[in-house]
Amino acid sequence: MKHERKSKRKGKTCDVEGCNKKKKASVPGGKVTKKTDLKVKPSSAAGNAYLCKKHYKMYKKATKEEREMRQLGWD
Ligand SMILES: [Zn+2]
Repeated sequence: MKHERKSKRKGKTCDVEGCNKKKKASVPGGKVTKKTDLKVKPSSAAGNAYLCKKHYKMYKKATKEEREMRQLGWD
């Protein structure tokens, strides 16, 4: 019953400043800084940013609102 050594790619954490939660999803970093007040590492803002569940929810909410507004405009 020994524990296998896990791959180093596991255990990636959220890229938001001050957050150490486990990542849930990766999203375009530029969008995160534009659409939300979250701060991500500069390297992540330029590429993909990993977000934890909580921060991903915030991101989804921010981008969803934008999408809904655009849909209303089509009517
Ligand atoms: Zn987070």
